Amino acid sequence: MKRTQVAIVGAGPAGLLLGQLLHKEGIDTLILERRSADHVAGRIRAGVLEQGTVDVLERAGVASRLHAEGLIHDGVEIGFRGRRHRIDLKALTGKSVTVYGQTEVTRDLMNARAASGAPSVYEAEDVALHELGESSARVTYWHQGVAHEVACDFIAGCDGFHGVSRRSIPTSALKIFERVYPFGWLGVLADVPPPWKELIYANSERGFALASMRSPTRVRCYLQCSLEDRVENWTDEQFWDEFRRRIGEELAAVVPTAPSIEKSIAPLRSFVAEPLRFGRLFLAGDAAHIVPPTGAKGLNLAVSDVLYLYEALSGHYREKTASSLDAYSPRCLRRIWRAERFSWWMTRQLHRFTDDAFGTHMQQTELEYLFESQAAQTSMAENYVGLPFSGYGEKW
Ligand SMILES: Cc1cc2nc3c(=O)[nH]c(=O)nc-3n(C[C@H](O)[C@H](O)[C@H](O)COP(=O)(O)OP(=O)(O)OC[C@H]3O[C@@H](n4cnc5c(N)ncnc54)[C@H](O)[C@@H]3O)c2cc1C
Repeated sequence: MKRTQVAIVGAGPAGLLLGQLLHKEGIDTLILERRSADHVAGRIRAGVLEQGTVDVLERAGVASRLHAEGLIHDGVEIGFRGRRHRIDLKALTGKSVTVYGQTEVTRDLMNARAASGAPSVYEAEDVALHELGESSARVTYWHQGVAHEVACDFIAGCDGFHGVSRRSIPTSALKIFERVYPFGWLGVLADVPPPWKELIYANSERGFALASMRSPTRVRCYLQCSLEDRVENWTDEQFWDEFRRRIGEELAAVVPTAPSIEKSIAPLRSFVAEPLRFGRLFLAGDAAHIVPPTGAKGLNLAVSDVLYLYEALSGHYREKTASSLDAYSPRCLRRIWRAERFSWWMTRQLHRFTDDAFGTHMQQTELEYLFESQAAQTSMAENYVGLPFSGYGEKW
């Protein structure tokens, strides 16, 4: 049987980043990924990085292209009743966010992993976790028709919402908190220079729209859609027509009808599984929690979990005590719930909910208050740029 110190399940941003941080600390890892490397590298997802995320990527030694190509944004805009209101993140908090696609973060991490020589197995089938409560855990999987077994000290479950890790924990040992929203986001990616300088979140009577970008030549735009909707129902022309109706008159005139290079529908959900540890298994990223993308927190939260897990594991190997491992879940959960609250709040204020006249009044009142009150804008801004990480060894 092969052996490694930490078996990492999943080569999304969480698994790859954890592998890179642990490798730099001299800790052995094996990454097991169900899909092919090409599939992982091509997945279109998040694109807004908090400063704390950029700092962790720097620490992992994978931020040089991010610094060269990432777009620094000092503000975001909210469109409501035909007017756009700018939230000046930089003036209110001293911080900015960086627009840099998750595909690029993943590519940088995959390149670093390959350069390090640390092992990754793509297209690993039937990954299964064993003996999580024992003195040593095991992972089994199939690769190219051959069965494999690996003994390890710990397993990092970085395999996303649909992965095997969380499902390997007895249901009696987990508390699940969930809210499913009655709509999804239809997203389009197109190779065209964005006619807007910063992200615009629009609350329109026809539903939510988001004008966003991934680079100076690539836009990413979203429309609130019904959960029953299908990508096939939307031609590119229909998408951009509806987008123009929602984004506001001023911008509508300059929105291009660009051919999409990717189009997808994602349901919106809030989800937390507590705790993030079961014996030798530690959950991180989407394996433990989901936020609706409105607050741009999913990827950033995966990165803060990974930083905390890296500090817990390296602290354990350095100090030979259990205290850093015991602190992992409560430390993560404090930040997770704050990001859940903010993502829920953003979603609540910006989308159209049917049959909720009282809720609609509350939403309008909340947005008007936001546009008039610097205190309310500061609160939104400090959450949007990312709340601070708690320090290693701090009481949380
Ligand atoms: C369609 C979509 C759009 C999104 N858009 C945004 C956005 O605009 N903004 C934002 O902030 N966030 C967004 N998110 C969320 C963000 O992308 C995630 O929070 C982030 O990818 C979490 O990283 P992760 O590594 O924890 O999980 P993932 O990226 O999901 O990676 C998990 C990995 O584990 C692998 N895996 C799964 N099961 C197994 C198994 N049994 N064995 C081995 N490997 C396995 C998967 O193939 C995957 O590579 C989006 C998510 C989705 C799904």
